[in-house]
Amino acid sequence: MEIKAPPQSPSTPGGAAQSAAPWWHPRQWVEGPHASVIDELALDNLVRIQRLLLIILGVNLVCVAVFRPTDDIEDLGASRWTQALFASHLAMAMSLVALALVAQPLLRRPEALRGLVRAYSVLAFVVVMGFIVAMVSFDQWVTSSIAPLMMACALAGTVIQMRPATSSVLYLGTYLVFAVAVGQTQQDATALMSNRVNGLSAVAMGWLLSMLSWRKSVENLLLTRRLAELATRDGLTQLYNHRETVRRCQEELSRALRHQRPTSVLVLDLDHFKQINDRHGHPAGDAVLAITAARLSDGVRSTDIVGRMGGEEFMVMLLHTDARAAGAMAENLRLALSVPMVLPDGRMIEVSASIGVATTQPERMESFDMLYQRADQALYRAKNGGRDRWEAG
Ligand code: GH3
Ligand code: MG
Ligand code: MG
Repeated sequence: MEIKAPPQSPSTPGGAAQSAAPWWHPRQWVEGPHASVIDELALDNLVRIQRLLLIILGVNLVCVAVFRPTDDIEDLGASRWTQALFASHLAMAMSLVALALVAQPLLRRPEALRGLVRAYSVLAFVVVMGFIVAMVSFDQWVTSSIAPLMMACALAGTVIQMRPATSSVLYLGTYLVFAVAVGQTQQDATALMSNRVNGLSAVAMGWLLSMLSWRKSVENLLLTRRLAELATRDGLTQLYNHRETVRRCQEELSRALRHQRPTSVLVLDLDHFKQINDRHGHPAGDAVLAITAARLSDGVRSTDIVGRMGGEEFMVMLLHTDARAAGAMAENLRLALSVPMVLPDGRMIEVSASIGVATTQPERMESFDMLYQRADQALYRAKNGGRDRWEAG
């Protein structure tokens, strides 16, 4: 048997192979180093956009009040402008409320509605930018300023995270629509040219900010994952380390007790492991530990917990498993470990393990520590009874 990573070993975090391409490579633009984090980022995005919507909605409501229809304005041009802005801000406020309402089911069930969660940022961007471009165009009746477009690009670029390929298309589309729309309302040729150039800068700034914030978010998420992995996995076997094994076992046990489901723990210790190290060397001992971990992981269900408690001692928690089934599983694992192990250098090593088994009892609300202690005592009986066997506690 070859040494292979156990099934619970996570895949390469963040698809390291993908991030090998330089930042300017077209593949980075289309895929980016983010394939494994895209859904997590989309959900994060959904929450961020809700805050952005709230801020813009506040501004919209203030503007609705400022531009409300009055009889004070005599100038026909100014009156047309205030009416258009009043209607735009009111329509935008209602659209933002609709966007926020659409987000609610997505926030509740992001797993089931994954596609919509991903599409939400595009929808939010199109709605917000669509209204901003319309308002800036109406502004051209009375001013040559395009300040709202600049602010919107800066805000959207920082808050709305999108894949580089998507943001490239959206920002380019925003600019094209802006350049056409502003041409319909700005009569002064010089001001129009200046606005088209400034608009290009604003949109380019938004696009750049969007690319930077996307890359930063992806990097942060991958780093957080890597740290979590280092903190919870044993480096040699890739099994859960002692702390994580105990944490997961405690969590599963309290869930099992609540639902009155039988749960068993197995404590396994390799026999005379010190002799293996002494005879074959520590690297060979390490290889044996890795093969042991792989065989244990292969031998249980994917929902069961397998961890390395330290040295050559392993813990397996079998969910929904009564004492009889746990005994059968202990015997299976013992047999699996007794198959000679072939090391990477071709040497063959025979190993055996002693196993202590303990199962929850319906009438007792045992803590994980107590269950572990019973399994440990059973392990000692197995050792004293001659090793290469299992005992129930
Ligand atoms: P028993 O049958 O009573 O369990 O005997 P044993 O030799 O297996 O137990 P003992 O506690 O005497 O020795 C455990 C050995 O495991 C000693 C230690 O050097 C070795 N060991 C612990 N961690 C590692 C490791 O990560 N790699 C290697 N190669 N050896 C390890
Ligand atoms: Mg041992
Ligand atoms: Mg030991």
